[in-house]
Amino acid sequence: MSRAIARSKPLRMLIGGAWEASAKGARREIVDPATEQVLAEAYEASPLEVNRAVAAAKAAFASGAWSRRTPAERAAVLFKWADLIEENLERLAQLECANTGKPAKLAREGDLPFALDNIRFFAGACRLLEGGCGEYAGGSVSLLRREPLGVAALIAPWNYPLMMAAWKLAPALAAGNCCVLKPSELTPLTSLELARLALEAGLPPGTINVVTGGESAGRELSAHPDVALVSFTGDTATGRKVMAQAAPGVKKLHLELGGKAPFLVFEDADFEAAVQGAVVGAFVNCGQDCTAAARVYVQEGRFKRFAQAYIKEAAKLRLGVDMGPLISSEQRERVEGFLARAKAAKILLGGRRPRGRRKGFFFEPTIVSGASQDSELVQSEIFGPVVCLLPFSNEAEAIRLANDVPYGLAASVWTKDVSRALRVSSALRFGTVWVNDHLPLVSEMPHGGLAQSGFGKDLSLKALEEQTVAKHVMLDATGAARKAWHYTVFGD
Ligand code: NAD
Repeated sequence: MSRAIARSKPLRMLIGGAWEASAKGARREIVDPATEQVLAEAYEASPLEVNRAVAAAKAAFASGAWSRRTPAERAAVLFKWADLIEENLERLAQLECANTGKPAKLAREGDLPFALDNIRFFAGACRLLEGGCGEYAGGSVSLLRREPLGVAALIAPWNYPLMMAAWKLAPALAAGNCCVLKPSELTPLTSLELARLALEAGLPPGTINVVTGGESAGRELSAHPDVALVSFTGDTATGRKVMAQAAPGVKKLHLELGGKAPFLVFEDADFEAAVQGAVVGAFVNCGQDCTAAARVYVQEGRFKRFAQAYIKEAAKLRLGVDMGPLISSEQRERVEGFLARAKAAKILLGGRRPRGRRKGFFFEPTIVSGASQDSELVQSEIFGPVVCLLPFSNEAEAIRLANDVPYGLAASVWTKDVSRALRVSSALRFGTVWVNDHLPLVSEMPHGGLAQSGFGKDLSLKALEEQTVAKHVMLDATGAARKAWHYTVFGD
């Protein structure tokens, strides 16, 4: 696929329906990590632009032009948005590949179709958002209303820029909120395009705003007094900062943070399927995936044979075709730092930059054995193509080792024994557990972690509910309830 180049330099931000430059004019180069070619320049939003974007969203929300539309009307616009994205799929896929270096197939056949499915799911789902009604106190009627929150601040990472933007925008908009999206400073290209198409689909001005920039823009946004909800996906350390920044305003929070997924292979597992699953699970998106199978535990009787087959299959991955580069030179250095510090570990495959490739932030698929359970390599999220391969003796030990990390996002169990699959999946402390698979997600089911992987859910009706507040409206239908209350409190 030819690599697309963004047209305008520098890229303007979307604020209140207009494309705006930054008043202070600070910019950042947006680089193709596969070629190191500069694709465009994007503004670093100053507090002024963040304020203006939040003000635009606040005014749009108050106007009711979106928030008070019926679910059917909102759905119609979101479906139109999805159709426009689909019409532009090839162009968006090229832009996404250029900005992330990821293989064309992953963007075209993975990220984009799933983002589309997600938008269409939320477009339909907003019509099913249920409140409720009941009579619980004599003579009164209780209504449970599901109402939008107001201004949603959406802060996204760089690993799946378009898909993460869709995961955040779709439920927020479907619920009737007005949004300020801040993509990662490294990958703003497709987020800006998504917003342009949303306007074209008929989203009222100010309903969707996009500010570009990094930590300082994110800090301003998550601390802004007029923001009701901060939905953040990123590193656990950044998530802690976001919590602190949002604390003075007591904002609603949704945090999708890091992971260190275990991949448990029992002796009775389908051997070939497990080997293939571990290759895809660990190296998809160059391991820059919060659910990546970063810890592959294999039962002792199969360990040696599995290691040989795993190394052989992973070595077949073609850099630039099956596996893209890391997002930046800093991220590659970070990955190298983990390996350099892991003195006791043995590198079975990779562990270095590819020889003979002068451009791009590529790193070879890397399999490491011998790391101790309490080492940094096993305990911390590396977010690169590095897998720890480790043995276990029995089911109890597999569960103990799998759970023994600070994270709780995703895990998988490989076995043909249904009882074991049920036992182990219930004992694993992770938000998603796959049996004989690793990675797939569906729009209908929630995705999110526990422990230091954060809280709250992406995808499914749960994500839609999180974008709303449940309000109790109590009607005194007869006057009797009020009277009873009066007598209870004050007596006759
Ligand atoms: P990051 O935490 O560095 O940045 C994420 C976003 O936060 C970016 O937009 C960044 O500009 C912004 N940001 C930085 N400092 C901020 C601050 N103080 N306040 C507000 N915003 C701030 O993460 P990253 O490096 O872009 O992405 C990789 C991380 O994302 C990994 O840890 C990965 O596990 C995680 N991730 C998690 C999920 C999930 O579903 N749990 C999905 C994708 C990525």
